[in-house]
Amino acid sequence: MSGLNLAQQEAVNYMHGPCLVLAGAGSGKTRVITHKVARLIQTGLEARRILAITFTNKAAAEMRERAKGLIGRDAKEVVICTFHALGVRLLRQDGAALGLKPQFSILDTGDVTAILKDAGGTTDAATARQWQWAISLWKNMGLNAAQAEAQAKDDNERVTARIMARYEERLTAYQSVDFDDLIGLPLKLLHEHDAVRDKWQRHLGHVLVDEYQDTNATQYELLKLLVGERGRFTAVGDDDQSIYGWRGATLDNLKRLPQDWPQLKVVKLEQNYRSTGAILRAANNVIQPNPKLFPKTLFSELGEGEPVRVVDCDNEEHEAERAVARIQSLRAAGLGKDWKDFAVLYRANHQARVFEQALRKAQVPYKVSGGQSFFDRAEIRDLCAWLRLWVNNDDDPAFLRAVTTPKRGIGHTTLGSLGVFAGQYKLSLFEALFSSSLGAALPARAVGSLHEFGRYVNDLEYRARHTLGAEDAKAFLADWLKDIGYEKHLYDSEDSEKLAAARWSNVLDFCDWMAKRCGGEIDDSAGVALAGEKKSLLEVAQTISLLSTLSEREQDQNVVTLSTLHASKGLEWPHVMLVGCVEGLLPFKLDDDDGLKGQANEGILQRLQEERRLMYVGITRAQRSLAVSWLRKRKKGREVVAGQPSRFIAEMALDKATVKEDPREKLKALRAEFARRSAEAAAAAAGGTP
Ligand code: ATP
Ligand code: MG
Repeated sequence: MSGLNLAQQEAVNYMHGPCLVLAGAGSGKTRVITHKVARLIQTGLEARRILAITFTNKAAAEMRERAKGLIGRDAKEVVICTFHALGVRLLRQDGAALGLKPQFSILDTGDVTAILKDAGGTTDAATARQWQWAISLWKNMGLNAAQAEAQAKDDNERVTARIMARYEERLTAYQSVDFDDLIGLPLKLLHEHDAVRDKWQRHLGHVLVDEYQDTNATQYELLKLLVGERGRFTAVGDDDQSIYGWRGATLDNLKRLPQDWPQLKVVKLEQNYRSTGAILRAANNVIQPNPKLFPKTLFSELGEGEPVRVVDCDNEEHEAERAVARIQSLRAAGLGKDWKDFAVLYRANHQARVFEQALRKAQVPYKVSGGQSFFDRAEIRDLCAWLRLWVNNDDDPAFLRAVTTPKRGIGHTTLGSLGVFAGQYKLSLFEALFSSSLGAALPARAVGSLHEFGRYVNDLEYRARHTLGAEDAKAFLADWLKDIGYEKHLYDSEDSEKLAAARWSNVLDFCDWMAKRCGGEIDDSAGVALAGEKKSLLEVAQTISLLSTLSEREQDQNVVTLSTLHASKGLEWPHVMLVGCVEGLLPFKLDDDDGLKGQANEGILQRLQEERRLMYVGITRAQRSLAVSWLRKRKKGREVVAGQPSRFIAEMALDKATVKEDPREKLKALRAEFARRSAEAAAAAAGGTP
């Protein structure tokens, strides 16, 4: 119980019913979860019967580390993972009840776009992505294709719903699921299969959920089915930090808790342990105009600290220079010892580039988190397609990518005919390839090459299943890449040798990382399998997609963090620079957005409130110092437009005296002063009066 205040202790000690910890940023909510896990084990609950759900894989890894520090080895058995990883677990164990093989594939967004293009008969990726977006929202609302069609408001929605039906058929045929299915299908499973539901409810002794304010409707339903009537769960959250509304997260989940669970114990935390008084005041002021779901007050005992700085910049480049200068001067002043003490936070991914350039120029090490994922690179996706095909032969998208990368003399005509044949007999491409009647549809030579490929995949699958541990995995992967001539393929297909070398080095990194996961050396198995155990390569391969989109491969390196505000949730840094605080960026374009034209003001107001919460999240990441910068001129597409300071800067209601003047103005004044004095001195030396 040490290191917890009274309210935190109350939440930790309340174990026999539903508990909600509702509190502002930095008040120790996540700490309550970690300590409660430890406490539950101390009181005799088996570690493996505890489930803690985090928002990202990275947060899960961190929590596992902390739990290990508190309770030692037992922590290994606690299931700490995201809702999505939990979905994988549920479907792997009990998905058969829904007709899903345990080796189902998890499609990444790229695959989904490709399948939708096919299902909707378009070659336009943007159109396919619009469908993807709509289908994802429907799935998050718990609607299937038929229900989506029934509630469609216009022709466009009706068409999309029909495409959804075709998309779903394909997924079933490929034995594949998308990310939304990782929540939706387990929900269906627990809903429709009493025995499975009873089993899980009996098994789980306590469920804990961090960042509860950003759960969506299906996640809440899943939680309800997992805990059953007894409701042994602990949810922690902050309505002021709900920033995923655009992805279907809903504050209704917070409102529903006291209604659905009349016995709900609500604990409020009021002390902020993260930020100085000045930072916390700015945060409280910013969030003040938003409507309050639950009234909250937050105080800090860390002293007033440095005033919050407002930095005005000429343009993006200037802003980046000033951010780097600030990092360097804080370090020189001994205020931030390590590079990892600093973070630059921004609204949109594209803002990172200028900061990357400036940091590189100044030779400051950095990482971009929440940006393009390692796993989105073409070479890594190539390898993942092969791995997926070993795990699940029916994964047609993976089949097509693997059979053509590198090229092996099986051309589009052959693959086209194979596709038609498979469609006729309702087989996967892989099944079709071994069909005895294929010979009637394709020339013997084509059938021969297909058989050769099929046998090769079977052989790889067999070997991957029996490859255990890091050493064997490493050797196996190296052999395989040599077999398929992947390095040569990269050099042949890249114009620049340097680029090919960089790609090959990514491939080697990837193999190392896979091998380490097989050896159980990395604690980031997404919480699907237990850490510390040797795993087969095939087993490790199945969770690849899950890790990919969530892109949580980062280790705790000593580097400056560049991050979107969305990806900074739950984290903290001694020094934070919140950049690009101009109207149109933060808040993000509210009025000139086509989607919003003609919409009721209510919609715009809600968007503004979510942007304000985003600002609140950004401010409250800072422990000791915070600088907020804005641009006089900013790029907007190809144009340069005048920048207006974000309304949130005014809303922070900073004391005028604390707003630092523009250093260039100061320099100008100093120079003028210096010139005047030198003129005086020169005149005095000359014996005259100036
Ligand atoms: P967020 O809303 O950003 O997710 P949170 O409420 O989850 O924040 P934590 O991350 O758990 O807050 O805690 C914030 C910081 O305060 C951490 O560094 C944590 O170690 C520290 N902290 C929390 N509770 C205490 C306490 N009782 N005593 C000392 N330090 C604490
Ligand atoms: Mg937290």
